[in-house]
Amino acid sequence: MPPRVVSCPACGKPASFAAENRFRPFCSERCRTVDLGEWAAEGYRIPVKEPDSADEPGRAPPE
Ligand SMILES: [Zn+2]
Repeated sequence: MPPRVVSCPACGKPASFAAENRFRPFCSERCRTVDLGEWAAEGYRIPVKEPDSADEPGRAPPE
């Protein structure tokens, strides 16, 4: 059975999809981390309601 190789979603290099590659479908731990980081950044872009910001006591006035 020939080893299955996929393109790493992070860097595009061939990455082994075999069971021994625990970072699959990425080629390395670094690429997996980078991709997860971008994923988290996407999540941060979702606006979050902050009900406390309106009456925050120590708010400095704009200059
Ligand atoms: Zn990679």
